[in-house]
Amino acid sequence: MSKGILERLDEGVVLGDGGYLLELERRGYVQAGPFVPEASITYPEALAELHREFVGAGVDVLQTLTFYASEDKLATVGLEGRVDDMNRAATRIARSVADEAERDVLVAGNLSVTWAYDPDDSTSHGRVREMFDRQLAVMTEEGIDFVIAETFSWVGEALIAAEAIRAVGLPAMVTMAPDNDPNSFDGYSPGEQVKRLADAGVDIVGANCLRSPEYMLPIMEEMRAAIPDSVHMATQPVAFHGTHEKPNFVSLPEFPYELERLTLPRAPMGEFALRARDLGYDFIGSCCGSVAVHVREMARALGKISADEREWRTKTGRAQSGYELHRMGNV
Ligand SMILES: [Zn+2]
Repeated sequence: MSKGILERLDEGVVLGDGGYLLELERRGYVQAGPFVPEASITYPEALAELHREFVGAGVDVLQTLTFYASEDKLATVGLEGRVDDMNRAATRIARSVADEAERDVLVAGNLSVTWAYDPDDSTSHGRVREMFDRQLAVMTEEGIDFVIAETFSWVGEALIAAEAIRAVGLPAMVTMAPDNDPNSFDGYSPGEQVKRLADAGVDIVGANCLRSPEYMLPIMEEMRAAIPDSVHMATQPVAFHGTHEKPNFVSLPEFPYELERLTLPRAPMGEFALRARDLGYDFIGSCCGSVAVHVREMARALGKISADEREWRTKTGRAQSGYELHRMGNV
């Protein structure tokens, strides 16, 4: 019997996966703009392949591609009525890739910001809860190990997700997305955000998306200092540059059609994984823009996979290139 997420976190750092939607858009399977996860039913093999790449990179957890898989969001691209199909397909795909892995890989059902939450309209709270309940009903039927609810701007909405997860009896990870102004839309500082979530009984709390490692780290420090060490903490930054004025990559003019200019190389993601571990974060993953090469670097830094895939030697001690071979032949 495999160990659950909380047991694994008690033993050490758990490595999360990377980003899905923007990478599937880059590969031609998702439309930029609406960014809904229809790939789970339109290109299931493309989604399975991306999951496999993350498993190959050393992750301990795969998330279902159910980000934005709610009726309101799908209606914006004419996919209303397919919400259950999409949640079911995405969970099946993640589950089957996890089950074919040679080591234990957990599947996290993913919930996200609904954009249906209005703090001043209590009927919207019930609707948001229904959306989460509906997604969770399908995902738990198909088999998930725990739930990651992420990318929240309102603590109020994140708390509704936490209640919905508690109702299905699974461990909960709930994270906030720190915008250019890292205070939540309902006015809580990063420290207050995680304190409220932890007080509500959420097992794993923290931050994900929008910010690069560089601009996520100060938020993480503030969050860590606000709650007891016994609470597990999660971080999943993006692999895109931000700027000092605009740390949120989505607010930069390069989003979404020139993101290639903002893409981080692999090394900062590996360095980030170590900084996060040293800060006391035990669920360390990544989000938008982070692909297998970034995740593998994190896995190596954390000792999840060996540093060298196979032994190789060159006369120069440097990585080979055609240029180098040519030059070496002429000296
Ligand atoms: Zn993201």
